[in-house]
Amino acid sequence: MRYLILSDLHANWEALDAVARESTGTYDKAICCGDLIGYAADPNLVVQWVHDHCAIVVRGNHDRACTGLDDLEWFNPVARAAALWTQKALTPELTDYALSLVKGPVLLDGFEIAHGSPFDEDEYLLAASEAGHAFEYLECRLAFFGHTHVQGGFIWNRGRVETIGRVPPQSTSETLEIDHECAYMINPGSVGQPRDGDPRAAWVLYDSDAHAVAYHRTPYDIEAAQRKIRDAGLPPILADRLAVGR
Ligand code: ZN
Repeated sequence: MRYLILSDLHANWEALDAVARESTGTYDKAICCGDLIGYAADPNLVVQWVHDHCAIVVRGNHDRACTGLDDLEWFNPVARAAALWTQKALTPELTDYALSLVKGPVLLDGFEIAHGSPFDEDEYLLAASEAGHAFEYLECRLAFFGHTHVQGGFIWNRGRVETIGRVPPQSTSETLEIDHECAYMINPGSVGQPRDGDPRAAWVLYDSDAHAVAYHRTPYDIEAAQRKIRDAGLPPILADRLAVGR
């Protein structure tokens, strides 16, 4: 089975559309690790796409905030402004869908998915030192997670935790062979707001028969997404940061 794995789409339609076009025909099932909305200006298009295409979706912290499930006191002013804007923009039907998303982790066929970490949907796993204890909570040797917007993840290699790097700027994909002696926490990166220094949309294909994870980066029309964010009256920093991937 070939899985398309997406995370942190954040209402960026141009980025999602580019990824959807490039990945068409290359997967059997699409899966989403949360944060469909918040930040960019197309929550309805993005949530509708996920509803129509993704077999399994776990919720992210922005999905809770943008549907009124959380109060916004832990959000910084920019994220709060975007959440309030999204609450107004998202249709009642798609709000209901976003409210129905389950909390991770969710166990699938030999792997699991989560938004933050396997024991806390809101925890950021950025460094190998933080990821080390997360491996103890895994039910399988392979997990996919998001939340940090940094492509890569971690390998547990016979007691040592190693960091996986993102796809280098000069290439568009990189394949990781799965070694059954190791355990993996794979971060596909963010489709809609990458923060690892590469502005291209990030995503992953997992082939369970070939035992391989392929990391991908896809260029998209950043200027169009920026224009929509500015025209919507969202904080301009949300447009600016897309150009630098930070
Ligand atoms: Zn996010």
